[in-house]
Amino acid sequence: MGNAKIRLFVDQPVGQGQVIALNEGQANYLFNVMRLGVGASVLVFDGENGEWRAEVAEAGKRKGLLVCMDQTAPLRMPPDLWLLFAPIKKARTDFIVEKATELGAARVMPVQTRFTNADRIRVDKLRAHAIEAAEQCGGTFVPVVDDVQPLAKVLAAWPADRQILWCNEHLAGVAQALPKGGAAGPWAVLIGPEGGFSEEEQAQLAAMPQVVQASLGPRILRADTAAVAALTLWQAQLGDWA
Ligand code: SAM
Repeated sequence: MGNAKIRLFVDQPVGQGQVIALNEGQANYLFNVMRLGVGASVLVFDGENGEWRAEVAEAGKRKGLLVCMDQTAPLRMPPDLWLLFAPIKKARTDFIVEKATELGAARVMPVQTRFTNADRIRVDKLRAHAIEAAEQCGGTFVPVVDDVQPLAKVLAAWPADRQILWCNEHLAGVAQALPKGGAAGPWAVLIGPEGGFSEEEQAQLAAMPQVVQASLGPRILRADTAAVAALTLWQAQLGDWA
């Protein structure tokens, strides 16, 4: 059996007796990099059925099989919290997706705003970052990462019951108005680009009854810092840290 330490996200259902076929990258990692052999244990999760201890049944250079033996953790869903952010430079965008996963966002939505000035977004790479972050932080859930969409379009179709915490840099230094505790319900956090929100975007947001404006303290934060700060603030006040 052995103590399973390695955690692997698999895009096949996990469950009692389930056989998992490893792809080339996973087989390379387990058998060439980590030097596991037949009978070794790893922890696997699929984002829906919790975490399972699985044993290596076949170990090849480019492929392999795992068999799920026993459940080690149930599925732990994060709160119903989305992160909307305007993508920035690649490394900083990667950081935002990684931290959103660790901090417990359920969905990550990159949005194109008037002043968004970003490197080209590879959503497949962002999804891989979310998976890696879930593997390392002990999560059993991987947030959904959407394709980039225009902010105005997203707001025009916004669900009536989902509140938005609009992090508005113009409120820097104003006292925090976010309520404490209670049943949170569906929420989203919105972070703007380095250039801030345009006047049209500010007007659209200000007219929405779902919007709660928030300050993130007296200093203007970089967008990646702001994303971490806002998710932390929300989690501590209304989420699963509260
Ligand atoms: N160019 C803008 C300016 O000079 O006012 C700053 C934009 S800031 C780098 C990027 C985003 O982080 C903002 O759109 C906002 O969502 C968030 N942000 C940064 N600092 C903030 C603060 N003190 N309060 C609220 N939001 C903040």
